[in-house]
Amino acid sequence: MSTKVRLVQLLCPNRHAIVAGAYLPGESTFDDTVAVLRNKLQALEAEWRCGICGSRRLAFEDAETRFRSLEQAAPELARLQAKGDWGVALRNLLGN
Ligand SMILES: [Zn+2]
Repeated sequence: MSTKVRLVQLLCPNRHAIVAGAYLPGESTFDDTVAVLRNKLQALEAEWRCGICGSRRLAFEDAETRFRSLEQAAPELARLQAKGDWGVALRNLLGN
């Protein structure tokens, strides 16, 4: 059994991702990563609302990626963050 990097996203019902982060099980947890993302949003005084569709029904989601280390995942995460398209992030990162 191998451990893979997990992706945490804050998603609206239309699966637009507002914010995302990654963690490696054993080093961190879903709850800790959610706390980091919440702090980040609070620091930015960001509105809890999807910037694309306007929905306020946001929820954090946890998913496995195909990467085995945060170092491996970092370039892909940076690229997707720059593009601002986390829907693509899911498709590219999820191992299947
Ligand atoms: Zn949306």
